[in-house]
Formats: sequence, C-alpha cells, structure tokens
Amino acid sequence: MVKKEITSPAKLKKELEEAKAELVSRNKKLKLSVKTEAKKKVDKKKAEAKKKEEAKKKEEEAKKKEEEAKKKEEEAKRTYEEELEEQLTEDEIKNFAIDKTDMDKLVNRVTEMIASYATNGILQNILWRKLKLSSRDGSRLALKLEKLGNITREKILENGRWTYLLLIKKIPISTISIENAPCLVCPVEGKCSTDGEISPKTCVYIEDWVLTELKTKKRHETN
Ligand code: SF4
Repeated sequence: MVKKEITSPAKLKKELEEAKAELVSRNKKLKLSVKTEAKKKVDKKKAEAKKKEEAKKKEEEAKKKEEEAKKKEEEAKRTYEEELEEQLTEDEIKNFAIDKTDMDKLVNRVTEMIASYATNGILQNILWRKLKLSSRDGSRLALKLEKLGNITREKILENGRWTYLLLIKKIPISTISIENAPCLVCPVEGKCSTDGEISPKTCVYIEDWVLTELKTKKRHETN
C-alpha cells in the first residue's frame, strides 16, 4: 500500500504563490504582446496612408506640371487668325466675300447677332456653328467685321485652346427702325449731343432700346 504524502500548509501556500506569480507574469507578457501587435498594425496603417498620400501628392504635382506645360505650349501657339492677319492685306480682309453670298446682308446679319449678346459677346465658334459657316470663312468674316469697325475681337483661352470672343462695337443703322426710339420723347433731347455730358454714347435708354429692337428683329427672323 502506497503511503499518501501529506503536503504541509506552508508548502501548499508557497506553491500557490508561485502559481499566482507565474500567472501574473504570463498575463503581463500576453498583454504586452497584444499591445505590441496592435501598435504594429496601427503603424503599418499609418505608413500605408502616408505612402498613399505621398503618391497622390506626386500624381497631382505631375498633373499640374503637365497642365502648365500644355498651357504654356498653347499660349506660345499662334492662332489661325493671327496668321491670316499677317498673310492678308487690309483690303483683302475688308473685301473678303463668300461665293454666291450677299456679303452686305451677311455682314449686317452677323453684326446684329453679335449685338444681341451685348457686352457678354459670343464665342466665334458658337456663332459660326449657328450660321453654318466653316471656321475658315468664319475667321475671315470676323476679321472683316473688325476691320469695318463693327466689332472687336478678344483673344481668350477656352478649354485649353485659343479662340475669340466677338463683341459689338457699332450697330448698322440700317437695321434699326426709329419707331419707339426714346429720343422722340426725351425731355433732355435738346441738351443731348455726341460729345456733350448728355450723349447717346452714355445713354442707357438708347442702349436698352437698341438691344430690344435687335432682339425683336432676331425673334421675327427665327419665327
Ligand atoms: S440719346 Fe438718350 S439722352 Fe439723348 S436724346 Fe436720346 S434718349 Fe435722350
């Protein structure tokens, strides 16, 4: 018969304390390991985010540089109209005509259309599309209108390409009827003169009336 060894309370207490200490130590190690792992994950995420951010920044910078280079390249380019102005004489520009077309009528019509856009002007390519004109004829016509003093052309960069904004300068008198003209009932008509303080050049009534006239005329033409 095996004799059962009886553990003394002091030994038991010691063993318990040792086991407890072992547990505490293991727990500490486990906590530390979890913490380290979590920190590693956070650091990894941070590094990835930083990398992504840097790549995005680089991409944006490259895009910006490319756009700037494109813009510079476009700015350096001469327009077709500038080349035409160099190649043609003033008379050739003024006498430009399109085959089988009444040029006086066309000049008046285009001038009226440009006038109806008042100070906003209209982009030449949009106008040529409305008139079903080729850009070759349109460009020559715009130069002609400018030389005749009817319009001004403003060179602008639109969607990365040079074009011209056409603005009215002089409306052809023949296109306007004097019916309803504000001057007919104007109380200061006697003091109004081209170079005076009261002048058609600065009169808002005359400007409104001319624009209304042109818009009405245009409406009648399209109906
Ligand atoms: S231009 Fe204007 S100020 Fe002069 S007469 Fe006509 S309405 Fe009057």
